Amino acid sequence: MSQINQELLKTIDVEDGLTAEELFDRKASVGMTYNDFLILPGFIDFPADAANCDVQITKNYKIKTPFISSPMDTVTETDMAISMALMGGLGVIQHNCSIEKQASMVRKVKSFENGFILDPLCLSPDNVVKDVYDIKHKYGFCGIPITEDGKMKSKLLGIVTLRDIDFLQSEEDLNKKLSEVMTTDLVTAKDGISLQEANDILRKSKKGKLLIVDEEYRLVSLLSRSDLIKTRDFPNASIVPGTNQLLCAAAISTHPGDRKRLAALVEAGLDIVVLDSSQGNSTFQIDLIKYIKETYPKLDVIGGNVVTKTQALNLIKAGVDGLRIGMGSGSICITQEVMACGRPQGTAVYRVCQLAREFGVPCIADGGIQNVGHIVKAIALGASGVMMGGLLAGTTEAPGEYFYHEGHKLKRYRGMGSLDAMDSGSAAAKRYYSENDSIRVAQGVSGAVVDRGSVKKFLEYLELGLKHSMQDIGVKSLQELWDSVASGKVRFEKRTSSAQIEGGVHGLFSYEKRLYQ
Ligand code: NAD
Ligand code: IMP
Repeated sequence: MSQINQELLKTIDVEDGLTAEELFDRKASVGMTYNDFLILPGFIDFPADAANCDVQITKNYKIKTPFISSPMDTVTETDMAISMALMGGLGVIQHNCSIEKQASMVRKVKSFENGFILDPLCLSPDNVVKDVYDIKHKYGFCGIPITEDGKMKSKLLGIVTLRDIDFLQSEEDLNKKLSEVMTTDLVTAKDGISLQEANDILRKSKKGKLLIVDEEYRLVSLLSRSDLIKTRDFPNASIVPGTNQLLCAAAISTHPGDRKRLAALVEAGLDIVVLDSSQGNSTFQIDLIKYIKETYPKLDVIGGNVVTKTQALNLIKAGVDGLRIGMGSGSICITQEVMACGRPQGTAVYRVCQLAREFGVPCIADGGIQNVGHIVKAIALGASGVMMGGLLAGTTEAPGEYFYHEGHKLKRYRGMGSLDAMDSGSAAAKRYYSENDSIRVAQGVSGAVVDRGSVKKFLEYLELGLKHSMQDIGVKSLQELWDSVASGKVRFEKRTSSAQIEGGVHGLFSYEKRLYQ
């Protein structure tokens, strides 16, 4: 440093690259997507794990990782919603199913790991071993309290766990009454006990379940050891403040019948509703937002989808607590091709977030996320979170079975506007395409994606990737990233198509692309 002429240093211009506003120069009239630009590196003075990804995802809810799974019937049902929330993100439960099915998914997310399980499945002493196996098959657990009439708030008689029935597999065994196999040496605690006290008893007892009873020994709730372990394993879980329950979001359409659906979801404990439409700037959606805000003031509403400031402003004026941005950018999408409407996702995210920030409305960049780099770019452009469909559809927690095709392990993934999706579930019943149409116009395709293993591991990779990128940019938090983009400290550069080729793997005879292990 001493070698350098200090006077000369003062005259050197180190300004480089473009500000975000210059990058999205309106006069150039070019829509840009994530691949069209890069973020220039900043200065590193902290380790990657010091980067913090906490973010306000709606006006009233914060999460610790900005990852959201899309409300699609090949992406988010119970398992995905639980896993996303456990990992600090959010899963939005799909609505292409009956009201009962969607409400039951919400209920399962809300009752998961909530310390006291208030509506555990019970059986009566007259049920048989096969009934326990059926529950295990359907719900994945088999620690079932036995009460006098097989329901909650009835006298507690025993419990049946896997240990009691493990070797009972023959036809005769399966028909054995539970009164013959249940354990009656129970660990119980009185109703009113705190979660902390209950946890202590469970820990000391070394049993799997603590049964909470009232004065008359009637079962009122249950605490499970596996839930304790899960809480310990997921310190970032998205929990509703003041409760022990996972944060739960679900989608509905703007069609009138979905007001009944919403009532059932709220009854099941829903925290955030996402209004699912490709073009959210409609009287249908504006009326629905107003209705929800009046009817369920505690429920947060994410409106959308929008890609322009005008669309966004209408939904903000109607009262949304969050916005979902993206039209035509999804991996399964043919909207731009068919409707000639939409916007390249980079520009859409930047412009809408620029407006929404003025009103304190968080935005989710939805669709077109193919890698960690896209996540970083979406957030740098102002998004508080990214919604992913295709990237998560190949995980074990996504609905559907794996199948093999030409040596690849795959899962089905389809657009909610594909003919396939329109022909099934609730869409078929409510004909979400225009009632007067004699044929259906598809806006999506149906296909398959490769196996990605568990979403928990995959999200860990995405989070770590995001933190390493924040380190390269030189920002310790998402707020610092937004502030630095707004002030022009974080700079950008456009990429030509040859720069994009250079930025990918090139010139190799062959290679294997492994992203994490
Ligand atoms: P939609 O329900 O918003 O619209 C379908 C049709 O129903 C439209 O013609 C709309 O005008 C009409 N409609 C909506 N509400 C109505 C009401 N209350 N009364 C009468 N008619 C009404 O659904 P969509 O936009 O076709 O999207 C369907 C699914 O496909 C969603 O899951 C959506 O996310 C997905 N999709 C997304 C994109 C995207 O780019 N993000 C594009 C296409 C489809
Ligand atoms: P992906 O992450 O790129 O696969 O995009 C997922 C997003 O695509 C969803 O969250 C929806 O916004 C959008 N989408 C879902 N179904 C369709 C469809 O049928 N056509 C167009 N877009 C869709």
